[in-house]
Parts: sequence; C-alpha cells; structure tokens
Amino acid sequence: MLSLSRGRPGFATLGGLFILIATVVFVSASATRLVPAQEALDLVIAGGRVMDPESGLDAVRSIGIRRGKIVAISSEPLTARTIVDVRGLVVSPGFIDLHSHGQTDENYRFKAMDGVTTALEMEVGTAEVAAWYAQREGKSLINFGATVGHIPARMAVVGDKGDFLPRDEGIRRRLTDAEQRRLLGIVRRGLDEGALGIGFGIAYVPAATRKEILDVFEVAAERGVACFVHLRSHGAVEPGSAIESAQEAIADAAATGASLHIVHVTSTGLSQTATLLRMIEGARKHGLDITTEAYPYTAAMTGLETAIFDEGWQEKMGIGYKELQWVATGERLTAESFARYRKLGGMVVIHSIPEEIARLAVAHPMVMIASDGIITDGKGHPRGAGTYARVLGRYVREQQALTLMNALRKMTLMPAERLAKATPAMSAKGRIKIGADADLAIFDAARVIDRATFENPAQFSEGFAHVLVNGVFVVRDGKLIENTKPGSAIRRK
Ligand SMILES: [Zn+2]
Repeated sequence: MLSLSRGRPGFATLGGLFILIATVVFVSASATRLVPAQEALDLVIAGGRVMDPESGLDAVRSIGIRRGKIVAISSEPLTARTIVDVRGLVVSPGFIDLHSHGQTDENYRFKAMDGVTTALEMEVGTAEVAAWYAQREGKSLINFGATVGHIPARMAVVGDKGDFLPRDEGIRRRLTDAEQRRLLGIVRRGLDEGALGIGFGIAYVPAATRKEILDVFEVAAERGVACFVHLRSHGAVEPGSAIESAQEAIADAAATGASLHIVHVTSTGLSQTATLLRMIEGARKHGLDITTEAYPYTAAMTGLETAIFDEGWQEKMGIGYKELQWVATGERLTAESFARYRKLGGMVVIHSIPEEIARLAVAHPMVMIASDGIITDGKGHPRGAGTYARVLGRYVREQQALTLMNALRKMTLMPAERLAKATPAMSAKGRIKIGADADLAIFDAARVIDRATFENPAQFSEGFAHVLVNGVFVVRDGKLIENTKPGSAIRRK
C-alpha cells in the first residue's frame, strides 16, 4: 500500500521496517487494548511537494497523520476522516527557532504565521525553569522550551533591578565565592528541572570573569548539555574584538568538553563574521561540537540601558547615533535623545550589519536560521515575525543565495540535531519520516515573503497555507487558528 520514496532504498527500507514492526505491535496489542490493526488516519496532507532534509526526499507525496505523528508517507492516495489537498505547495518539517525571546501568545501567533512550530528561548533563558514551563503547559499555540540562563541566574544572585536584561548590579559586580556557588546551584537546579541547556549573554554581564564563565561551561559538560552563547564582545576593535570573544568560548568548550552554540554570528561578528565562521569551521574540523546561527536582517536590537552601549560602542560597532532607532517611536537617535532614553531604558534597533554579511551567514551551509525575535504589544524588530519567510522569499527565491532544501535544513534538521544529543524528543522533530511528530509548515514557494518592517514589525508573513503542531492546525488556509493550544513542552528528560 505504501510506496515509500522510490529510488531511495535506505529510507524505504527503514520506513517499511517500521510499518512492519508497528503492524506486529498493533496485532499483538489488539487483544488487550482493542486497537485495530488498520486504524483510520486522522488526517491526510495530500499531494504536496514533500521536502525532508534528512533523507533528501523531494517528491510529491501524501502524508498520513494519526495521534499527532506521521504514520504514512505515500505516493498513492491515502484515505482519512480529513483530507487536505496541498497540490502545488511545499510540505516541510515545521521550523525550529532556537533563539526566540518572545514566549507569549502574541509572539506564538507571529511565529505560527511564519512557519515556526517550535520556539525555544536558548540565549537568555530563565532562572526559574519549572515555573517557566508551568506557565505555558497546555496553553501554547506552538511547542516551547528554554535553557537555564546564566544572565537571569546572575541577576537573581546579585539582586539586579533589570527586567529581562541586567541594568545595574548584574552588569558591574564581581561575584564573591559564595555568590558564585549560589549561581552554579541555580544552574544545576534548572537542569534538574529539564532545561534544554545553559544560556549565556556575556556581553550583558561584563563583570563576569573568564573563570565564572568557564565554571558554568563545566556544569554543561558534566550534564551533557550545550552552551548557547552571546559572546563577550563584538566587532573588530582590539582588545575586546569578536575574535577574542570567540576564542574565549571556543577555549572553554575545548577545556571542558561542553558543546557550544554561538548565537547571532552576524551581529556579534560584524566585519569579522567571515573570520568567526572560519574559526568555528576549524574547531569543528578538529573535533569540537560547535555550531552557530544568524537572522536575515541588517540590524540588531537590544536594550539601550544595557552594557552594550557602554563607552566605546560607536567604535566597536562602526556606527553613530543615527544608526540607532528607538523602538517605541521609530525615531532615529541623536546624542541628546540617546542620553535621555538610556536613562529610561528600552529596546533600540541597531542598524549595524552590512547586507553582504547577512547574506554570507544566511547562505553559509553551517549556519542555522534563528530569529532572536521578540514582539511586545506590536513593537519590536521585524525578525520576530518575518525571519523564516524572509529567508525563503528574499534569499532563496529572489536572490538564489541558497537552495530551498538547504534553507529548510537550516530551519529544521540542524536545530533539531543541535538539541537531540541532550534532548532525545528532538529526534522526532525537524524531519518528515514515519514516527516523527506531525509538525509541518506548508507554503507556496512562489509567494512566501515577510511583511514585517522596522517601522511596523507586527505583520504576519505571507505564503504559509497550513501549519500543523503535533498534528493540529494552527494555521489553515492562510488563517491563524486562535482557539487551539496544541503546543507541547520540549524538555530534556
Ligand atoms: Zn544576543
């Protein structure tokens, strides 16, 4: 009945074997559980161009879904209670965003309309892992998860008054030995509670010594989780360049054995991005587990009150006041408004990344796509809403900077593999295969495009016809389904 990806014997054999085993299980279980051997499918996604970066499958197939899992991939028609005709559309594994600060209903809506089925807060993370998950369980449109964060743990230890990022003690204060032990205690407890790794934003806590960071890497190595790191500094000015900062993190990974993921390589690397990529490739070649990511934009965003804007920021980033855009109003800054808003605190867009640097990273086969996005009451950076459609529309279709399959690999399989070693549940994501979770992004490759702009970031991407999370539609016929909560917690356990 199931003709599985003709011409790809490995995939067909494995899939066939699985079905054989599944049939045997159903038959033997049927006496006790009354599960019929040929249970009907819940849903068929019929006749789309199915693209799976793991197997290389790129062909017209129908996908059968039952209880949130992919249970059939067939070149013949399948029957089910619900059949959705997706002829002419690409069927991809749902996108996995490793760097999604926005973890609210508002943000999940923008993510779903951009093809994202799993949004993970890996860089900043949280100090209260159990509570963080409890707030979202059973209430989320898409899948979610987080690291335990060095930044929030440090803020808790020193009593920083900042909200999301440190603004006083967390930035300036060295930890005592007792405080350092408390910090490591928070990190260990977070991992016990299922955190997906350890997040770092060293640039936000310049008082954190190299020893403090190394000790936290050691905990990651002990527990077999990766470190997700915003490096200590950015740009080309020495000392304190992005290269020096990458050397710190790579050395900590080498010295402890921890895996390392360097976040947003473009906004950190700036003019040194190609060198950073060369360093990461070299370290990988010599046996270290190091990965990286980028977003497809020519601007960064962060808090104006943070240590990023300490003395010397213009030289480090190679920009001036007018390259800063105050998110609340959209205005470009001057020396006067910079000083005023820095005291107030709030998000600022930083137009600092040359287009050729953004394109270099987006097209580089080693670099994953991740948004670094957050939208709050409609305000923010367009990356929170448009990252994935922008890569597919602008860089794949319009500029042909990379192939569609390579783009999908950077959005699905690569982030899943980054996490799978510590979090086995991720082996069932980022793939279209028998037994995988039915997280799917179904889009029109000729039409998909971002609509979010710096002036108006709160705009849904276009071209996603259907998006499924655990077999449930969160986008159907191009429209968001609001009253559904199929998202599940991604935990390391
Ligand atoms: Zn960052």
